[in-house]
Amino acid sequence: MGAEDLLAALVALPTVAGEPNRALVEFLRDTLAGSGAKVTVIPSPRAGAANVLATVGPRDVPGIVLAAHTDVVAVAGQSWATEPFALVARDGRLHGRGTADMKGFVAAALAVVTGIGDGPLRRPVHLALSCDEELGCRGVGPLLDTLAALPAPRLCVVGEPTMLDVATRHKGKVALRVRVRGRAAHSSAVTRGVNAVEDAARLISALDGVREVAAGERDDAFDVPHATLSVGRIAGGGPLNVVPDRCTFELELRTLPCQDPEPLLALVRDAARRLRAGVAFEELARYPGLAADPAGRPAAELVAGLAGGRAGLAVDFGTEAGLYQERLRAPVVVCGPGSMAHAHGPDEYLEADQLARTEELLRRLVDHLAR
Ligand SMILES: [Zn+2]
Repeated sequence: MGAEDLLAALVALPTVAGEPNRALVEFLRDTLAGSGAKVTVIPSPRAGAANVLATVGPRDVPGIVLAAHTDVVAVAGQSWATEPFALVARDGRLHGRGTADMKGFVAAALAVVTGIGDGPLRRPVHLALSCDEELGCRGVGPLLDTLAALPAPRLCVVGEPTMLDVATRHKGKVALRVRVRGRAAHSSAVTRGVNAVEDAARLISALDGVREVAAGERDDAFDVPHATLSVGRIAGGGPLNVVPDRCTFELELRTLPCQDPEPLLALVRDAARRLRAGVAFEELARYPGLAADPAGRPAAELVAGLAGGRAGLAVDFGTEAGLYQERLRAPVVVCGPGSMAHAHGPDEYLEADQLARTEELLRRLVDHLAR
């Protein structure tokens, strides 16, 4: 199958993060094993979800890792002009959920890996396909355990959308659930209660002080050149005549690649201690940034040369690349087709030309490093 047919098959499997992904795993296993690749299905920490590792070539020498996540974000509440889980080609664009982030790269890599054929490889090509990345890189751990037991690769390409430029740095992230517990009371006697919603609001307001500290450490290579804090979902309160005893919100901290998140998190905890309500923090997800790696520069320049893109970019979004760098101790770059600006929203698309260029890039990379 060609990359576009593979992409159509992948988009038709609605692998929304957090849901079971068995149909996708079976498709990948059958497609890859059918071409002669060694395929291992590696369960993720979440029941019903699994990662897939496929290898072509000898496993006992350093090789290339092509890495991607196979889950996508949900379409609920989005207004699409086309069916999101069907690939629709229009005006040179391939529309569908996950085309840009990042089934386009998966399709190109599948086309190349299944087409390697019988020509002997000097070095292995590993295709590492994870689940639950969109939940904060929560599925890839066991896949990394398996890869880390193999010889450290020469190069790892994480194919998140960069329009085929080569990013060698990205930010890290910590995601928290914050539970604020007050004391319920009749609202005519507010002094007997502790209002959890109001204390949650005080804590959220206090984040501005943490942001001021965060702004003191800058790296102007990033669009947003410092660590950031953002509150997402918030829930709490009930009938107006009851002082609410519970409020919960989710908070994320994104840090510069080598920045320790702990001092900023300590400021958040300090602010929480000044409240009357009790506050408990639950960590939902954490992944490191992708840090500059001078030893990996030749590998990054090789990829940029083959891709015809720029090298050494810094991107603000997070990827699994920081985890690959941490676990595999190898040169890791982020380079893939399409743009993050076209991902996650309605009418997500990938330019057909980007898909073709990615297939060509990966073919040349395999020929260059593994033949
Ligand atoms: Zn992604």
